[in-house]
Amino acid sequence: MSRIDLHLHSSISDGVLSPAELVAKAAELGLTAISLTDHDNVDGIAPAMEAAEKYPCLAFIPGLEISTDTSTGEVHVLGYYIDHTNPELVTVLKKLRDSRLGRALKMIEKLSEMGMPIDWEHVKELSGDGSVGRPHIAQALMEKGYIETIKEAFSKYIAFGRPAYVPREKMTPAEAIELITRADGLAVLAHPLGIPNLDTLLKTLVRAGLIGIEVYYKDYPTADRESLAGLADKLGLIATGGSDYHGLDDSTEVMMGEAGVPPYVVDNLIAMVENSSLKSTLL
Ligand SMILES: [Zn+2]
Ligand SMILES: [Zn+2]
Repeated sequence: MSRIDLHLHSSISDGVLSPAELVAKAAELGLTAISLTDHDNVDGIAPAMEAAEKYPCLAFIPGLEISTDTSTGEVHVLGYYIDHTNPELVTVLKKLRDSRLGRALKMIEKLSEMGMPIDWEHVKELSGDGSVGRPHIAQALMEKGYIETIKEAFSKYIAFGRPAYVPREKMTPAEAIELITRADGLAVLAHPLGIPNLDTLLKTLVRAGLIGIEVYYKDYPTADRESLAGLADKLGLIATGGSDYHGLDDSTEVMMGEAGVPPYVVDNLIAMVENSSLKSTLL
């Protein structure tokens, strides 16, 4: 029986296991295909690929997960079969990471100068499976009792034009999709449940080159999986899936390989990648 997991995080982003440890664990659990999809980072791909060579029964797909911004919040875009050495991809990801961290640090510095010190490590903890941002700074300010509500943190200190505001680099989901595509990758919308105006967003993203959506995700209920699979079908997109395993807490987290990803998911991805490389050799 094949067991697949195309959404995994290592210690290169916010997971616990190193890329090599993650690969070893997948092999130990009897998984047949995995992808490492660290946040805004491809540094784990080379060591994971090297580790995967030891396990001939385990297929390794190079991947990543890019955090992007829309007017209604953060949206994550997965990339599969990316060329992790693509210079543009590597440069842009580094710029994104530096900008996010640098911005949060600068805001914390300003707040401290204003007499409201908060702990950087704690702010990072609050960000969990995402990039460090203003909501986490607001939360830390509230916990310290400097403000009463998250809204107050924004309106008094960290909204645009307020004294602790610092601008940052932004990337839209469409830009992330184009970046992934230019790095020979296949772009997939991550955990789509709960994204406002999903239908409208998807139309824009398909035009940008999106090829799939995550359907078999973590603990998504069957009814949601069915409706997402229907939506993917309607738009000519493929369905992918994975556990979004971080190795943080095995008693509460969905274990890698347990997201119920059907085997045809990898077959479809392989078919897409063969199709796109065929196209590029014909051009
Ligand atoms: Zn995500
Ligand atoms: Zn993730």
